[in-house]
Amino acid sequence: MTIDVLTLFPAMFAGPLDESIIRRARDQGLLELRLHQLRDWTHDRHKTVDDRPFGGGPGMLMKPEPIFEAVASLRREGSRLVLLSPAGRRFDQTIARELAALPHLLLLCGSYEGVDERVREFLVDDELSIGDYVLTNGALPAMVIIDAVTRLLPGVLGDDASAHDESFSQEWLEYPQYTRPTDFRGMRVPEVLVSGNHAEIARWRAAQGRLRTQQRRPDLVPGTAAESAAVRKRTT
Ligand code: SAM
Repeated sequence: MTIDVLTLFPAMFAGPLDESIIRRARDQGLLELRLHQLRDWTHDRHKTVDDRPFGGGPGMLMKPEPIFEAVASLRREGSRLVLLSPAGRRFDQTIARELAALPHLLLLCGSYEGVDERVREFLVDDELSIGDYVLTNGALPAMVIIDAVTRLLPGVLGDDASAHDESFSQEWLEYPQYTRPTDFRGMRVPEVLVSGNHAEIARWRAAQGRLRTQQRRPDLVPGTAAESAAVRKRTT
């Protein structure tokens, strides 16, 4: 998969995307990640990308011209252009899976007070928010999406089953997990996990995953009104 990122802050991406699983995916050619400075598509001496909003109001807006030009040069057959925006549909694991199936993702990071509305209306394919809060610019949201999508690409996780078992991949949140020692300062690992009885372990895990979901995220419990509404929202 190829991901192109349009941002005013490409240097912010160094670090998070140069480590760990994402680094490995890039080294193995499973993810091609290209960072672009949006100012490279300006034509004035000051490389201006922003201007005051018509009608007044605080802050500056990103001008449409460099964005339209940049997208025209990067977009190709099968691309999806996603604007990071607090007003977008809420990013989740279902959307991560949807994006991981695409050949090419183009992420447009906003800055200042956001982008000229014509970018939204006439250019982008999708708008995604990573949550109901406002960040300074779209770099962190883009990195969140790149991370979540990359670990779903075939071959990226050493053991492909690990993505399959995780929270949000099944109906339930992930069950509690333990490693050695079995007794740590008097806190013991549940007996069933060291019993060697794999059928019992699977039953315990399924029950714990359900319990945890009911306690912490009742909105995810299959068949509840909240979950049906969330599924409807995701699929419309
Ligand atoms: N004035 C905008 C509003 O009220 O919705 C907020 C602009 S924010 C300061 C600047 C940029 O950061 C946005 O254009 C977007 O690209 C990014 N951003 C901020 N919060 C975000 C979020 N929760 N999800 C996705 N992108 C976000």
